[in-house]
Amino acid sequence: KGISKYSTASAIEEPVSPPVQVNYTELLINGQFVKAASGKTFPTLDPRTGDVIAHVAEGDSEDVNQAVAAARKAFDEGPWPKMPAYERQRILLRFADLIEKHNDELAALETWDNGKPFEQAAKIEVPMLARLMRYYAGWADKIHGLTVPADGPYHVQTLHEPIGVVGQIIPWNFPLLMYGWKVGPALACGNTIILKTAEQTPLSALLASNLLHEAGLPPGVLNVISGFGPTAGAALSSHMDVDKLAFTGSTSTGKIVLQMAAKSNLKPVTLELGGKSPFIICEDADVDKAVELAHFALFFNQGQCCCAGSRTFVHERVYDEFVEKSKALALKRAVGDPFKVGTQQGPQIDTEQFEKILGYIRSGVEDGATLEAGGGRLGNKGYYIKPTVFSNVKDDMLIAREEIFGPVQSILKYKDLDEVIHRANSTPYGLAAGVFTQDIDTANTLTRALRAGTVWVNCFDTFDAAIPFGGYKMSGHGREKGIYGLSNYLQVKAVVTPLKNPAWL
Ligand code: NAD
Repeated sequence: KGISKYSTASAIEEPVSPPVQVNYTELLINGQFVKAASGKTFPTLDPRTGDVIAHVAEGDSEDVNQAVAAARKAFDEGPWPKMPAYERQRILLRFADLIEKHNDELAALETWDNGKPFEQAAKIEVPMLARLMRYYAGWADKIHGLTVPADGPYHVQTLHEPIGVVGQIIPWNFPLLMYGWKVGPALACGNTIILKTAEQTPLSALLASNLLHEAGLPPGVLNVISGFGPTAGAALSSHMDVDKLAFTGSTSTGKIVLQMAAKSNLKPVTLELGGKSPFIICEDADVDKAVELAHFALFFNQGQCCCAGSRTFVHERVYDEFVEKSKALALKRAVGDPFKVGTQQGPQIDTEQFEKILGYIRSGVEDGATLEAGGGRLGNKGYYIKPTVFSNVKDDMLIAREEIFGPVQSILKYKDLDEVIHRANSTPYGLAAGVFTQDIDTANTLTRALRAGTVWVNCFDTFDAAIPFGGYKMSGHGREKGIYGLSNYLQVKAVVTPLKNPAWL
């Protein structure tokens, strides 16, 4: 209902009426939806038009204080960390079932607030959220320490305990998935949470969190604060009673929250930050397949991926053909209302990102890169940008150095492997990399040489609940997802008991 067939590629018509209602706009504190202490609200906007979707309670330091107090109580006195792990597991499993039941409602809210294609949200992202919850539910009753052989007559064991009250700050590009990456492992390990959503996309986390409470989550275990970074986000990062902080967002904000954590109570911080990921197309590549994968690696989610393959390095032997075919593919990309079936690319998230991306496109032209396709706005309302391809990009151009976070592909030419390894690694980032080759030796050489937290070989953006994700260098600290994601939310206690009591006799 409300979703019509895709008519013409690149047509921005009257926006489709979203097949969903906004039911939750308040802060979620101690299991209740409540107004902000200040009474303030802020509008969340539809990226297709810039129109207001809803006014949302604006959390600030006073609300963060209340949420931290609720999370503290739920951790210290509440059942959550102390209940049998299989009970926590059951709640997460019931939550996964409810996510599936509300799949299209969650997806529609995600599309409305974020602008991503509904089919992507409904067929990939919401199912992945359910999968993540089941994955971490599976871990809940399998977390345990070790028995440690000691030098003296002691029985030594380690306990893997939850850290306590956890602050989590997430971005707007994958609101529900970022929610899942954070909430799943933290809850499985028995922590309590204050989650601050991104100000651009507060809606889907509120609906999901309501479902989590319907699944049986006790009050105070997960508190959700909508609000802005310098107010709510800063209050959380610098709070003396928050035991751990997990942040996903830009590298510049990551530096700020790390400093706030250090200056307050030295809480440990995990950071998932930006990237400028190389995707290396080798000389033996099947060009048609390589073009398709490189296109997907960059344009997926409107180019708003931290791991986007935003430096496409192409071997000189296949370069010309690659550029021609990449241009043709970009020109064919279906840009339009994200609620329409067949739309591949919706609008960018907001006017700030939209202007920033257009600025990068201008800089690419000014710096002398060749504009092969796109290069500007599409339509005259909302934040749509034409799929843009630059060839002849040089390493020192701004578009090759900085994160654009938009539908702008930069194609660079290279001659040999040593050269491309050096150039691919010449960035302060190290989030991800891609390699496209049929040669096993080339693949092995590149996977070992590239300084990045993920290297995809002949695939890209392959995500799975079990595959760890995180950055080398200025792309972050720590790994999320998989077994590695648990360690962000656990601390180790050594318990030492003499074999004969008392030991000192
Ligand atoms: P951002 O850093 O501006 O915002 C991210 C979050 O931090 C938001 O919730 C925001 O409100 C909050 N924030 C902003 N200023 C703050 C402050 N002073 N104190 C505390 N919190 C603050 O980033 P963005 O533009 O919303 O997101 C895009 C960035 O996120 C990109 O750089 C992208 O690469 C990165 N990202 C990384 C990953 C990853 O897993 N590595 C995933 C998604 C996005």
